[in-house]
Amino acid sequence: MLLAVAEYLRSKDANVVTIAEQTSASKINKFGVGLWRMPSKLVQAIALRAKLFGVPYLTDCWATFASGTGKLESVTLTRKGKTWSIACDVLACGFHLVPNIELASLLNCTIHDGFVAVDEFQRTSCENVFCAGEPTAIGGVESSLVEGKIAGFAASGQLEEARKYFAERDKTRDFGERLNRTFALRDELKMLAGESTIVCRCEDVTFGRLAEFTNFREAKLQTRCGMGSCQGRICGAATAVLFDWKVGSVRPPIFPVKLENL
Ligand SMILES: Cc1cc2nc3c(=O)[nH]c(=O)nc-3n(C[C@H](O)[C@H](O)[C@H](O)COP(=O)(O)OP(=O)(O)OC[C@H]3O[C@@H](n4cnc5c(N)ncnc54)[C@H](O)[C@@H]3O)c2cc1C
Repeated sequence: MLLAVAEYLRSKDANVVTIAEQTSASKINKFGVGLWRMPSKLVQAIALRAKLFGVPYLTDCWATFASGTGKLESVTLTRKGKTWSIACDVLACGFHLVPNIELASLLNCTIHDGFVAVDEFQRTSCENVFCAGEPTAIGGVESSLVEGKIAGFAASGQLEEARKYFAERDKTRDFGERLNRTFALRDELKMLAGESTIVCRCEDVTFGRLAEFTNFREAKLQTRCGMGSCQGRICGAATAVLFDWKVGSVRPPIFPVKLENL
């Protein structure tokens, strides 16, 4: 993901100073070797690296601090016990992807480990409700497309047609699982937030304020965390990582809608 975004930014003439990847070089190398099972991904990875020629790609490295007066001026990076700052005016951070499971949750579909549970035909626990793509597992576009095909065939009663895509889906799922293992967040990242770090951006609620509470609901009632326009979509995931909290129930509207759309 970091490579894809960096390459996109460079294609728009951004001067990408550094790519800091928190996972280790050994994990990345092992993942790279395993890519022979999905040659298209291997080709994509090589092409991205080639297009980013000259941009340092540092593994075991992450940003610990961003500073500047009125605007970002520098970012502090850490790597294997060494800390240094680099000048830059934009910092893009990605910690992981979060599936949108709100619609399935509203329909009372079973959720397992944060993902919508499906059977081999992409059937959820609710009758006539199918789910495909990132709500069921995060594994890239091929995985979503093949799951969509299976769900479509199964939903229209063509089970044998659907079955033809099982092997392809298993391959993409395997890729997704390896991706998630390789880039799993290291524990040190949980220690990045300081007392004054803002966790809920809509309501300006800091880490220090949230640390007074033991669950999301209590924190929400006392601090308005998760009550702003994103309705906990950003801070809910952050508090799940930082405090192991579970965000409460899902309620419509799933996404804020502009009056002009209504
Ligand atoms: C910056 C970036 C770069 C990426 N690069 C790559 C790459 O190089 N290779 C790769 O394999 N993958 C890449 N991915 C991941 C890839 O985009 C996803 O795996 C893929 O799009 C997932 O497909 P999906 O159908 O599950 O979800 P999506 O493509 O997200 O489609 C879901 C759709 O549902 C709509 N939706 C959501 N909720 C609702 C609702 N309540 N009501 C109505 N509509 C709703 C959304 O608007 C969206 O159009 C990248 C992702 C990002 C963000």
